[in-house]
Amino acid sequence: MSVSSLLKNKCYVNGKWISAKDRTVFVVINPSTGEIVGEVPDMIEGDTNEAIAAADAAFQTWRQTTAKERCQILHKWHDLILKHKEELAVILTKEMGKPLKQSMLEIDNGASFVDWFAEEARRVCGDVITTPAKGRKLFAFKQPIGVAGMITPWNVPHAMVTRKAGVALAAGCTVVLKPAEDTPFSALALCELGEQAGFPPGVLNVVTCSRQNAAKVGNAICTSPLVAKISFTGSTAVGKILLKTGASTVKKFSLELGGNAPFIVFDSADVDRAVAGLIVCKFRNSGQTCISANRILVQEKMYDSFVEKVVAAMKEQLHVGDGFDAKCTVGPLINQRAVEKVENHIKNALSNGGKLLLGGKRHKLGGTFFEPTLISNATADMLFCTEETFAPMAAIIKFKTEEEATRIANDTRSGLAGYFYSNDHQQIWRVADKINVGILGVNEGALVACVEGPFGGVKESGIGIEGSKYGIEEYLHIKYVCIGGL
Ligand code: ADP
Repeated sequence: MSVSSLLKNKCYVNGKWISAKDRTVFVVINPSTGEIVGEVPDMIEGDTNEAIAAADAAFQTWRQTTAKERCQILHKWHDLILKHKEELAVILTKEMGKPLKQSMLEIDNGASFVDWFAEEARRVCGDVITTPAKGRKLFAFKQPIGVAGMITPWNVPHAMVTRKAGVALAAGCTVVLKPAEDTPFSALALCELGEQAGFPPGVLNVVTCSRQNAAKVGNAICTSPLVAKISFTGSTAVGKILLKTGASTVKKFSLELGGNAPFIVFDSADVDRAVAGLIVCKFRNSGQTCISANRILVQEKMYDSFVEKVVAAMKEQLHVGDGFDAKCTVGPLINQRAVEKVENHIKNALSNGGKLLLGGKRHKLGGTFFEPTLISNATADMLFCTEETFAPMAAIIKFKTEEEATRIANDTRSGLAGYFYSNDHQQIWRVADKINVGILGVNEGALVACVEGPFGGVKESGIGIEGSKYGIEEYLHIKYVCIGGL
């Protein structure tokens, strides 16, 4: 695949492509081939503070633009993203490894957030409030909150950027974004297209850094009095650090943290539909999404036939390989840490009575490729039930009653996505009500984070909503205005 003109090796700050002040760089490796994709600046606090100052200066004029002006630029950005869809997808697959087809879908999904919020910008309305006293008029103004600091993960390197920056820019906020160290190129490519679309200097800024410097950059963003809002997607542990650090300057937070999704199949379910749902929900992106099924619970009468059909579907549909191989449906894991984690989960499950039906080890392709793995006889006290596996491993637990399944499903501090399959309509209403998650698939495993649906978790899975008609509120504050003496 040819190197694209969108593959940028500098950071984008105040409308310029720049290096770190100390000229340090770090390399980004293609997890599939081990080849170097490129190198980008390894920035620290001083560089980040400069980007924040640029975003703050730009905010003073960007907030004064009309919603229609912002809408027009965002629409141009959206059109450019789709025009360059293939190049963006190639960059994504190179830096992250996901199959090219899935990368193309991610670009479509990412662009849809820009398109949607371009329109939503024009529908922000305040209120005229009935006055309790004569001679006064009361209003609620909705205003952009200010500079938004953003930290994004590697598993959805394109759409996480558009999903966060699209809405912030639409609301009239400006952005300083730090992409994950494994996948900075998708974010930088979006800056190039943003510039072509017409964002003025300082409105959209991307600062890259290595893992060693992530805490320094994160700290600069969280402690700057010029930053009003933090939006983070990543691990619960890091989310908690940011929340604590951001407390020093009392920022508004949107956090989308780890999940531990239950996937329940009741005896009444359509077994083929449930199997198809599990294959998508567990193995898309090699199991590396926060809404991937993690704790799979199947009722006793259904258990054997479900497991048998999952084995057949996995053998038929899952093809491990390089993301550019047309047959590939399961790419590599992001790094060796991820491989060690799934190995640990498998070892724990097998030493506690789990039965290995498929896979179980590193793939013969080497590197970070891992065999799609299926384990039966799993139990709710195994390690994979307490932390996300984030890999192509499915372990299936047998349960007897609805009460038992919902109790296990809710027995976690996470509450992002959940899924269940049932054809008993009373059970559907009961269980939908009981499962404590922010996003629920009922007889549906392909819960794509579409822009129309509100996406956000409960408990330690997060704060706030992304996408939907609610998403833009996260970037606005309400100012109460009282005009007296009338
Ligand atoms: P993962 O373990 O999946 O990489 P993380 O939560 O560690 O998930 O990473 C998500 C994002 O958070 C990445 O952009 C990463 O660089 C960033 N990050 C990691 N540690 C910190 C930190 N201490 N402060 C700020 N950002 C961080």
